[in-house]
Amino acid sequence: MSDPFLSIVVPCYDEEASLARLHARLTAAARMAAGDSYEIVVVNDGSRDASWEIILGLAENDARLVGINLSRNHGHQLALTAGLDLCAGERILIIDADLQDPPELLPEMLATMEREQADVVFAVRRARAGETAFKRTSATLFYRLLSRLADIAIPRDTGDFRLLSRRALDAFLSLPEQARFIRGMVAWVGFRQVPIPYDRAERQHGQTKYPFSKMMRLAIDAVTGFSTAPLRLASHIGLWLVAVSLLLLIYIAYGYFSGAVIQGWTSLMLVVVVLGAVQMFVLGMIGEYLGRLFIEVKKRPLYIVSEIAGQIEGRPSLGHVAQARDKIATSESPGGNGTRPIA
Ligand code: UDP
Ligand code: MG
Repeated sequence: MSDPFLSIVVPCYDEEASLARLHARLTAAARMAAGDSYEIVVVNDGSRDASWEIILGLAENDARLVGINLSRNHGHQLALTAGLDLCAGERILIIDADLQDPPELLPEMLATMEREQADVVFAVRRARAGETAFKRTSATLFYRLLSRLADIAIPRDTGDFRLLSRRALDAFLSLPEQARFIRGMVAWVGFRQVPIPYDRAERQHGQTKYPFSKMMRLAIDAVTGFSTAPLRLASHIGLWLVAVSLLLLIYIAYGYFSGAVIQGWTSLMLVVVVLGAVQMFVLGMIGEYLGRLFIEVKKRPLYIVSEIAGQIEGRPSLGHVAQARDKIATSESPGGNGTRPIA
């Protein structure tokens, strides 16, 4: 099979209940948008249920389905990276396996990309059905905080549901970092990126695979990956404390010379506790950056693949991040005429 026009990349972790329905809906949407020239790349991220067996079964009956089985659970962002590494399409759709993002939006996304000559069309959530108030509030607060801290504009209320052009994807694949906050990295890549609004549906089957701990991890990856503002916090706090300590110094000197110095347990404890807390907090923050630096420096592969199902002859091998870097210069823009300069 020659390289398809459209690739749909789906990471999945314990999604056995969704897969058949997902495959049917993705196939219908892809046929409508790209005729026969599409592929569906499903990445099994170390599922503990029968997801991989189901993917194998689907791949047996569908030559357009490619399955990648990772060696263990690597996490959503790395699983997605594996799929993006392997896919071969000119247009690449990223979508969740739980059908919260409607595949039926695909034709509109493709049309928007052509019309606007865009390299990225990202779906912005208008409504989020069936999500807890906590998830909604924390997501809103997080995106607000991030856009204040980050050095680049990362669109709010946007997940990974988006359509990329080949050259945007190749540029994305040239970013080698381990701590991957994909929506931010895609924003960093630049080119013309346009939003398209949609209503986020409820999860069809099973529970969210993003418990609080994973959400926190992603949030910290996002902040540390795109901003060094927290590292400057220590100097900001330090400056304020210098001002406060000057005032205290006057008070202390006055106490000494007037002979009233024994009392003051409360104020002493206050200073000790507050300073201790601030120091620990700032130290922890430096630790977050240092830990990530350590992980990056090791330069381990982003993920390990154990099996691949489907037809992938003639493709670059998995983990071709470095090769992708060379390809950027030669990729065409979505306009298809290849004349747009690479900005
Ligand atoms: N996912 C994954 N690995 C993980 C966690 C999640 O591949 O470790 C996949 C999951 O199967 C789904 C997508 O990432 O396709 C988004 O996860 P989920 O729907 O649970 O997140 P939410 O929509 O609740 O934020
Ligand atoms: Mg979901």
